[in-house]
Amino acid sequence: MRVPLVDLGAQQAEVAEEVRQGLDRVFAATAFIGGSDVEEFEQAYAAETGVAHCVGVGNGTDALELALRGAGVGPGGEVILPANTFIATAEAVSRIGATPVLVDVDPTHLLIDPHGVAEAVTTRTQAIVPVHLFGQMAPMERIARIAAPAGIPVVEDAAQSQGAVRHGSTSGGVGLVAATSFYPGKNLGAAGDAGAVTTNDPDIARAIRVLAAHGSPAKYVHDVIGMNSRLDTVQAVVLKAKLRRLAGWNENRRKAAELYDSLLWDLPGIARPESAPGNTDVWHLYVVQVDRRDAVLETLHAEGIGAGIHYPTPVHLTRAYAHLGLGRGCFPVAEAAAGRILSLPMFPHISPEQQEYVAASLAAATTLTRGAR
Ligand SMILES: *Cc1c(COP(=O)(O)O)cnc(C)c1O
Repeated sequence: MRVPLVDLGAQQAEVAEEVRQGLDRVFAATAFIGGSDVEEFEQAYAAETGVAHCVGVGNGTDALELALRGAGVGPGGEVILPANTFIATAEAVSRIGATPVLVDVDPTHLLIDPHGVAEAVTTRTQAIVPVHLFGQMAPMERIARIAAPAGIPVVEDAAQSQGAVRHGSTSGGVGLVAATSFYPGKNLGAAGDAGAVTTNDPDIARAIRVLAAHGSPAKYVHDVIGMNSRLDTVQAVVLKAKLRRLAGWNENRRKAAELYDSLLWDLPGIARPESAPGNTDVWHLYVVQVDRRDAVLETLHAEGIGAGIHYPTPVHLTRAYAHLGLGRGCFPVAEAAAGRILSLPMFPHISPEQQEYVAASLAAATTLTRGAR
């Protein structure tokens, strides 16, 4: 049996006819930029997120950069974010000319640790970026208790959490502004690169729209130095079709997570992922922790299982961020987790047979490697 980390084939099949009709329309009209498909998707995604405004953009990294600029982050500022995240969270900060200030994560959920956030705040802090990692939301109410009295905006990195909820609040609708990614493998994925910014603030939404279109509020009027980051019409067609199915697909992921939970229940040497109290998790990834992870991963790969690591290197230990001068030992929880985490295959249409095969292989691999010690 082969079980890829992510298999989008069944998703694609479900939307194929609707997408084909939409694309036929777009190509017949040769209207590839903007238009009603983009507007309809933006409105539908805003409604799904429970916010007033959604601005579709080129990808999740641009969405983060635009969200941060919209929140007032500028050159010389500091932005607090977790050490265990995809590199894009830090990149967006650096591209503005601000400095990423990393903090450690909590050992149970690997989400940004509010204690670390409180310690990292300075007079130069311009934003805090909680990352809703692996499908569950960061402890937003605890972050807000630090941010609000200091007047620091909270900018969500919601790239891994479309549809997630925490204490009744939806991912992408809690911070002053939020950025998300529709990279194909995300819970809501395009057929290429795409992203969005969501906010309830009309002024921020307007400013971001201008920034994303060459700083241009009207044709050939340029008020600020912006960038070109648009949501393609072709991607809007795909995203509209998939958004209608997102809740059902997230429900499938929850069922798959429950099945993994029961299959791995009493296996020694495997720590299962936990959803924090109050979180409705959308299981972007199912991440276990094991000893001798690299050996276990190698065994799974040899058996045709596309397990992965998210992420093997915390931001401060990448070469790109060596200039921060933060060596090994700075963020012990993120560093220890990086050596133990293992993402099992997870996608809405994974079959129980595939999951049973993964669980059996994982059980055998962890027993083997324990014996080898
Ligand atoms: C995917 C992702 C991004 C970046 O999105 P792109 O669309 O690939 O630019 C940012 N942050 C996190 C946590 C992500 O998972």
